[in-house]
Amino acid sequence: MRSLLSRALRFFGLLKFDLLVESTSTLPGDAILPDGKMFVVRDGDIEKWACFTCPGGCGKIINLSLNPARRPRWGVVTDFWRRPTVQPSVHQLNACGCHFWVKQGCIDWCKDGRPMGVKRD
Ligand SMILES: [Zn+2]
Repeated sequence: MRSLLSRALRFFGLLKFDLLVESTSTLPGDAILPDGKMFVVRDGDIEKWACFTCPGGCGKIINLSLNPARRPRWGVVTDFWRRPTVQPSVHQLNACGCHFWVKQGCIDWCKDGRPMGVKRD
């Protein structure tokens, strides 16, 4: 329900985000992930993965490990509107090579981290 409200607020220009968090208990795997969603995979109280489609346009699914026992690991904090903030930054090592932060649901490109074909705001 709340993500509907977030979307409505974005429609009216009152809220800015590229990604909203959706909780799930299973890894989405290679399924096509809908644009604009970050799936946070939980096992009970433990957050395991954050999965979303690469914003660089290559279509690859990025799976960030949230497991504290693994390296590298990321942390995701979700705000009231379900917008994720990810620490540290995400750097794709494939041909796409994009490098960005996710801050309050918005993709924040690093210098030289924006692939060709992604428009500037
Ligand atoms: Zn990419």
